[in-house]
Amino acid sequence: MRRWASKKAERFEESVIREMTRISTLENGINLAQGFPDFEAPLPMKEAAKRAIDADINQYAITWGSELLREAVAKRTSEYNRIPASGGSNVTICCGATEAMIATMLAVLDPGDEVILFEPFYENYGPDCWISGAVPKFCRLAAPDWAIDFDELERAFGEKTRAIVINTPHNPTGKVFSRSELEHIARLCIEHDVLAITDEIYEYILYDGAEHISIGSLAGMADRTVTISGLSKTWSATGWRIGWCIAAEEISLAIRKMHDFLTVGAPAPLQEAAAAALGFGESYFASLQREYTERRNVLLEVLEETGFGVSRPQGAYYIMCDLGDLARPAETDTEFAMRLLRDGGVATVPGSSFYADPTTGNREIRFCFAKKLETLRKAAAVLRERLA
Ligand code: GLN
Repeated sequence: MRRWASKKAERFEESVIREMTRISTLENGINLAQGFPDFEAPLPMKEAAKRAIDADINQYAITWGSELLREAVAKRTSEYNRIPASGGSNVTICCGATEAMIATMLAVLDPGDEVILFEPFYENYGPDCWISGAVPKFCRLAAPDWAIDFDELERAFGEKTRAIVINTPHNPTGKVFSRSELEHIARLCIEHDVLAITDEIYEYILYDGAEHISIGSLAGMADRTVTISGLSKTWSATGWRIGWCIAAEEISLAIRKMHDFLTVGAPAPLQEAAAAALGFGESYFASLQREYTERRNVLLEVLEETGFGVSRPQGAYYIMCDLGDLARPAETDTEFAMRLLRDGGVATVPGSSFYADPTTGNREIRFCFAKKLETLRKAAAVLRERLA
């Protein structure tokens, strides 16, 4: 029989994160797997979306984004990320940070180019490389503090290295890359003439005084960095699919072409509402941090109490755990996750899905705490009962 799937499509599997959400629904579970909030999005943003639909902003926006939103993104990026950006030449609005990442890779990578990923990594980056014809190379972040081994990183840079993907705050570990780590990475990028592609979707979700630094703001990096972010996490609207990337004009032009032929554009009325959301005052971001700190603490407490080996996130909304003695001797992360989920349990993401070689990370598991306190408390009760 002829096989119809392309070699590219056969190169990778369905997303484990999204599969866990589906199984959670079937098992009537409490979903702490896929990273999305179960609470409401901000009211003024929802009202702005309704107004935009009523005002009949229902046709295509400019393919690389409505002028209003590009200007709002440029302003925020200049102020918060300290990357001087112009809506006219540096900003492209995409269908989520997910599309921003694949459009960027398609725009800058040729077959055979190598891309460095820090491992564990958010699972999309692997397929993004393969779809672009590029080859991922890995540099391990080691638990419990997820420090970078710079000798290993330097060895990963080679003749064919074209880009490095940074994700700070980091999914799944909660690591926030420090200024000195980013400066070291920047030096390597400049020395080897490599592009930094940085996914900063969790940039406002920070704990214990952690500071978010964008590598694009460091000396010599503005022209060799693509900075990606979006509405999903900071404004609790993962289903709206509004993301963006910031890049120097030449790179932006290439990204805009890819974006145009991939999706034409992001939803027009939601772009209007996103522009309103980007204008929220400082108190919005302060309460976001306060509320997430409370959610993090509820989950941390129960995970520590039940015997997981926990690393305390400095940012983002996940806790990556070591299974320690909680897993049976031969039990894999996936088997453990299924045991925890079955019949109304708690859905998580098996750690192996964040590693290139699934035998690594098979004693780890990721919990998401972007949930109402009520949901987290229910999950805590189930964990206490099942793991006591
Ligand atoms: N980034 C989120 C996660 O890691 C959601 C991913 C997705 O399904 N798009 O769970």
